[in-house]
Amino acid sequence: MPWDNSTLNISSQEDFIRKHGEWVSYSIGMKCSCTGSMMMTGTSIPDANRANPNCQACKGIGLVWIDKGQIFGVVENITQSKELLQAGIAAAGDLILLPDLQVTLSDYDKIQLTWPEGIPFEGELIIKGSGTTDSTMYGVMSVSECISVDPTTGVITNYIPDVDFTWDKTQPLKQIIWQGSNVPSAGSVYSIKYQALMDWIVFTPPQPRRERGTNLGQRVILRKKHFVTFGV
Ligand SMILES: [Zn+2]
Repeated sequence: MPWDNSTLNISSQEDFIRKHGEWVSYSIGMKCSCTGSMMMTGTSIPDANRANPNCQACKGIGLVWIDKGQIFGVVENITQSKELLQAGIAAAGDLILLPDLQVTLSDYDKIQLTWPEGIPFEGELIIKGSGTTDSTMYGVMSVSECISVDPTTGVITNYIPDVDFTWDKTQPLKQIIWQGSNVPSAGSVYSIKYQALMDWIVFTPPQPRRERGTNLGQRVILRKKHFVTFGV
């Protein structure tokens, strides 16, 4: 039996989180069961560790998320945890989350911050679908620019936000809606940059979380989802 002579002072840490915390959306990250698929269509060799690239649930990344509503927690800048940066566990741009003690987060869980201004996002490339609606990686809060280029001539075509396309202003949805005649042709690729309702993926670095005998709960790293799932 492990020796533990520390006192468990949950209430003081709960008070700290209540005082400094905010509501965030929380989804549990699960391994997608499509990883039990056969290696390739037409073969009989099972490969339990590789996602099916055609899986409609996980889009081939091997993870799906189950919405669990909102939890309370303190969000900190990574620069307040320099030891994690110096150890190479965290990277610039990550955040730290101290969740409510009643929640136990684990690797690949997903967090959304409910900050109204959104997070600057490097942008993404989208293949224009045949309809008027295209899916985006993150919820769109405001759009900076949208262009396509002709690689042979170098000509850049601009698409004007709120003129050539629009997006839901009441809640950030993962889509834009094309309208009018200045629209990329179906099957062509365009580039869009926007402020995002970012999805953050949880990492839980192994470390004791006690100070002078007080249980400090979890401290997890939040990393932008597209750095974890390579843009899917
Ligand atoms: Zn899958």
